[in-house]
Amino acid sequence: FSSHSSLVDFGNYHVTKGIARLVDGIITKGEGSYVTFEDGRTMLDFSSGIGVTNFGHCHAKISGAAAEQCMKLVHGQCSIAFHGPYLQLIERLLPMMPHPSLDSFFFWNSGSEAVEGAIKLARNVTGRQNIITMQGAYHGRTFGAMAVTRSKTIYSEGFHPLMPGVFTLPFPYWHQLGRSPDTPSSELSAFCLDQLALLLSQQSSPRDTAAIIIESVIGEGGYVPAPPEFLHGLREVCDKHGILLIIDEVQSGYGRTGKNFAIEYSGVRPDIMTVAKGLANGFPLSAVISRKELTDQLKAGSMGGTYAGNAVACAAAVAVADVMKEERILDNVNARSAELFSALNTLRADPKLGPCILDVRGQGLMVAVEFASPVGTSPHDPFINSTMPEKLASRVAKRCVQKGMLILTTSVYETIRFIPPLNISKEDLAKGCKIFAEAVEEIVR
Ligand code: PMP
Repeated sequence: FSSHSSLVDFGNYHVTKGIARLVDGIITKGEGSYVTFEDGRTMLDFSSGIGVTNFGHCHAKISGAAAEQCMKLVHGQCSIAFHGPYLQLIERLLPMMPHPSLDSFFFWNSGSEAVEGAIKLARNVTGRQNIITMQGAYHGRTFGAMAVTRSKTIYSEGFHPLMPGVFTLPFPYWHQLGRSPDTPSSELSAFCLDQLALLLSQQSSPRDTAAIIIESVIGEGGYVPAPPEFLHGLREVCDKHGILLIIDEVQSGYGRTGKNFAIEYSGVRPDIMTVAKGLANGFPLSAVISRKELTDQLKAGSMGGTYAGNAVACAAAVAVADVMKEERILDNVNARSAELFSALNTLRADPKLGPCILDVRGQGLMVAVEFASPVGTSPHDPFINSTMPEKLASRVAKRCVQKGMLILTTSVYETIRFIPPLNISKEDLAKGCKIFAEAVEEIVR
């Protein structure tokens, strides 16, 4: 590294500028809810690597299962033969499904690939092309997933044309619809369902519409749970017209919201569900889950992938499913969630800091704080260049980093998201809330 003053400079030079970074540094170790940097800094991790290390870093049982599998079989190619962990994982997932009709699985590596798979499946079995997505949605960075992403133009700028046949529906989120934060969700939902009727009569005929894709909790787009009445309305429209409902649980699934899958809050049946992130606690693994009656229509060879359903990742995922039960993880999520909401609402009630907080929302340990935009700035300013004033939320996130905590913003508005490990202790949760409160006070005052 002779021509660079440090390894970080070396990385900043040679790693593509296309990847943004929150912290300058090199992480050398992760343990539970903490990560350690090469320079000795230890930080509380409220990002969980973007909602992935749900059981903390390097959970002994999960990493142990992966290590053991490494010595038996690493690459069991899914188009050559089954391997054990692939089938064991299906066995573990079946009883966790939000609806018993979800009984057909294929595994991939990333959330984006799972979304691609869901779109391909929907188009193939319906014989229709168009997909309806939500304003503010995030579904990934590959071409199909990027085409149904609507959270921020930075993800698609300079990459057009994307997959055609995508139509956008407003999502029942007060801020996006220009309403006040206390507008009843039934009113917002009714408006968006009316817009769906218009969309199907004016833009994409039901006979051309393969699927509606929606996150149970809009993630990168601001951590807004989809109101149950909206999801029920979508289900009704899908049933009426033979359109498939794709529920993207990549970020909200697998215990994150206090239920196995966030769609359970509404009881709505997905036709296709995508899962990734927490599924293998950091090993790359994703799933497209549907019903056999649909996937039986696919021709053999039409799906696959060199690394899809890797044996080590599947073995880790089997351990994750077991740990979820053994550690009664949903109980911890719900107990810590109540403490997190209480801490954030206390901040909101503070006479000095409260006025800058517009909203505290979310489910389980998928929670966001939305700040009011500072006077003279708009929450809709697209990122044009680095001379623009930095957003309040990212200044708060950076102050948290200085104070020893990793925490992320979302893509839209002035929003900070809380996605700590699902097994975080009461003490570490309180510590994170204290760091956040201090950071807000220092930035806002
Ligand atoms: N869908 C949702 C809801 C997501 O939050 C993400 C990732 N943030 C993706 C899809 C894409 O997943 P990946 O980054 O693993 O490709």
